[in-house]
Amino acid sequence: MLKGLIQERPLLISSLIDFAADYHGDTEIVSRTIEGPIHRYTYADARLRAKKLAQALIGKLGVEPGDRIGTLAWNGYRHFEIWYAVSGMGAVCHTINPRLFPEQIAYIVNHAEDKYLFVDLTFVPLLEALAPSLSSVRGYVIMTDEAHMPETTLANAICYETLIADCDGDYVWPEFDEMTASSLCYTSGTTGNPKGVLYAHRSTVLHSFCVCSVDGLGLGSHDTLMPVVPMFHANAWGTPYAAAMCGAKIVFPGAAMDGASIYELLDTEGVTLTAAVPTVWLMLMQHLARNDQLTLDALEKVVIGGSAAPQSMIELFETRYDTRVIHAWGMTEMSPLGTTGNLKAKHKDLSFEEKIAVQVKQGRAVYGVEMKITDDEGNELPRDGKTFGHLMVRGPWITSGYFKGDGGNVLDEDGFFDTGDVATLDPDGYMQITDRAKDVIKSGGEWISSIDLENAAVDHPEVAEAAVIGVKHPKWDERPLLLVVRTEGSTVDAEAILDHLRSRVAKWWLPDDVVFVDELPHTATGKLLKTKLRDEYGDYLMQRQAG
Ligand code: ADP
Repeated sequence: MLKGLIQERPLLISSLIDFAADYHGDTEIVSRTIEGPIHRYTYADARLRAKKLAQALIGKLGVEPGDRIGTLAWNGYRHFEIWYAVSGMGAVCHTINPRLFPEQIAYIVNHAEDKYLFVDLTFVPLLEALAPSLSSVRGYVIMTDEAHMPETTLANAICYETLIADCDGDYVWPEFDEMTASSLCYTSGTTGNPKGVLYAHRSTVLHSFCVCSVDGLGLGSHDTLMPVVPMFHANAWGTPYAAAMCGAKIVFPGAAMDGASIYELLDTEGVTLTAAVPTVWLMLMQHLARNDQLTLDALEKVVIGGSAAPQSMIELFETRYDTRVIHAWGMTEMSPLGTTGNLKAKHKDLSFEEKIAVQVKQGRAVYGVEMKITDDEGNELPRDGKTFGHLMVRGPWITSGYFKGDGGNVLDEDGFFDTGDVATLDPDGYMQITDRAKDVIKSGGEWISSIDLENAAVDHPEVAEAAVIGVKHPKWDERPLLLVVRTEGSTVDAEAILDHLRSRVAKWWLPDDVVFVDELPHTATGKLLKTKLRDEYGDYLMQRQAG
């Protein structure tokens, strides 16, 4: 082979903040703080403070390359600085999801062997309770100033602003191998212990190119980005890195994710692109429904992912608010972007209904993600939009194995990772999730998609949220049971909902019963917690029959 004569510059995360500060130095980063007020500064300010923090980490806290530094924090400017300081100096930024059960948080801090924890004021009480069981942690940096430092029982509690106050920021980011670990994020572990996904500088920078590409999320310097998806949920889908890569203005919503607070920032800051899970958009839609004079004038694109975006939600954004929905799919193991629902040129002349039919799919692979679907034996299945199988992925920002070898070898012989999702692929490359492999309902040897049934149910105007689980059945092995949360004030009954489903799904897919509940359980990342529902309702039909 003849080697190319091109500079081998490593793809490092520090180069992202350097680019932003050098070429978009006056672009703003706006944060709703935990203390209350809105904070504003620029990329130039952020780099200076990130460098000060890097100096403090090395000089005052003795942090060394490769050490893990945990964060329990909302989306905000200090969290942003920590990301760049920690990864920039060669350590590993470990974002912890504070919505996990306390025992899980203790487990992952110990598993990651975090040396220091950076913590927002909100989570100080949580850590005070856990501290005795956190064996590796040397100290806790409270992300606030002296005036707001709380009384705390945490041993070695350090004030963030005091920590960096006397550093001058005269610091040069080190250069090292681009495959060096940069950050760590644990999957929420709905079954078994959480497992760590260890990202590299190279994967993070490549993933950022994808977020900025037009067929990715199309983020650019003309945009004002509001990542509502938390920085502890798969790195806010990589958006805080991508924003620096292109110099987009950032708006961090802090802890307030209710409809009114989110609307306020969208409106006053002129947000053009925002991203979150469907639950967040449901809250925004409820706020908008209560205040029907409100508009979303600046908002051009909304990214919906993490769970399936209901068709009614896509239609509402597109028709009532003239906002384009990018339905996206991915997972922590994929940095997380896998597919985006951008349309192709050939879709331009389709009717609105036909376009929506494409957009409700989870999207098509972006460059960098190879996909295939396979049967139980690993044989590849046709890409006909109908046949479904295990969704397998391969690419330069996809995990090669979990931290410390948990879970063993996770790749097939061709290097593909099993996503645990069951999906179809169509000839244009659009993927549609049929189910999580563990949630699919096996009725008399045939598979029923719980997601399809849920989507059909939430399209009923009086259904706020729906969950479908497979429950034991004496003849069919498993049958679907539908659990429904009614909209406020609704008295809709089971028969009306089954009627609504009859025109939308095959007869043999119809749930055997509908149970109305006040609320449904969710995981720490806002997904339906079906393991809990199965524990509770698994014998529902057996008991009904016996009774
Ligand atoms: P968690 O830690 O909650 O598992 P992830 O974000 O890593 O968080 O979860 C990834 C899973 O979420 C995917 O494998 C898929 O099942 C589901 N998911 C993500 N995006 C979508 C989507 N657009 N539609 C349906 N399911 C999705």
